[in-house]
Amino acid sequence: MSKKTKKKKKLEEKNTIIRVENVSKFFRVPHQKIDSLRGMFVSVFSKKTYEEFVALEDISFDIKKGEFVGIIGKNGSGKSTLLKILAGVYMPDSGKVVINGRISPFLELGIGFNPELSGRDNIYLNATILGLNRREINEKFDKIVEFSEIGRFIDQKVKNYSSGMQSKLAFSVAIHANREILLMDEVLAVGDVAFQKKCLNIFENYKNQGKTVVLVSHAIDTVEKYCDKVVYLSNSKIKKIGSSKEVCDEFLRDNLTKEQLKEMKQNEGNCI
Ligand code: ADP
Ligand code: MG
Repeated sequence: MSKKTKKKKKLEEKNTIIRVENVSKFFRVPHQKIDSLRGMFVSVFSKKTYEEFVALEDISFDIKKGEFVGIIGKNGSGKSTLLKILAGVYMPDSGKVVINGRISPFLELGIGFNPELSGRDNIYLNATILGLNRREINEKFDKIVEFSEIGRFIDQKVKNYSSGMQSKLAFSVAIHANREILLMDEVLAVGDVAFQKKCLNIFENYKNQGKTVVLVSHAIDTVEKYCDKVVYLSNSKIKKIGSSKEVCDEFLRDNLTKEQLKEMKQNEGNCI
């Protein structure tokens, strides 16, 4: 048995489906901004300087099979980067991620879509990447289109879709792939109220089916309602991890003024 298989077996015994171990991710941001042809010419001969930017620092946590886990934090705190590492889009610069199941990701807009292809072709492309064969895709095709509400635009190039339409189609493919783990980045921020309600129904179904879901969202009340556990990122690190109520409360206390908190309490139950 290989080392990797042994590790996965060990995790299985503990019912752990995702393990994130001391993960860090850096980005190199170039210093000079090239905004002219002359600048481009000069930059070929000059020494390039970069600034190393830490997007994630020493992140560790486990996710158990069937857990619904939220990832919250202010803009730029590293949520999408973490989800992309779980999806295998980025490699961590240090640390490791072990995943013991098949993943269906819904990531930031545009990832996975070829804008020059039609919606129809992109469904086949994406579903194939997720591991479905042609027969399976043929079977699910109508349902995917129906859920996405794309209708007659299905044969238009995806580059002509609005961002909302692209997101709906990507989300529809992700949920119909029927994998054990669903990763979702800001799905509630796209689409209209009716679509958001459909997403919440999907969360409910996934919860009942015991699937594992990792949800990045700014909709704190939804995170609190659906998630068993929440990871709160702040400045590229884990600020708090624990039960959803406890962590969401801390996040709100850190980020809202007293007046905003009071207002929120009064409106509780009115929003999605
Ligand atoms: P969030 O999703 O929490 O808003 P992100 O994970 O998208 O945050 O980004 C975390 C930080 O990493 C941000 O400061 C962002 O500018 C930076 N970042 C993300 N992706 C890249 C990239 N490809 N190149 C350089 N910097 C990046
Ligand atoms: Mg993000």
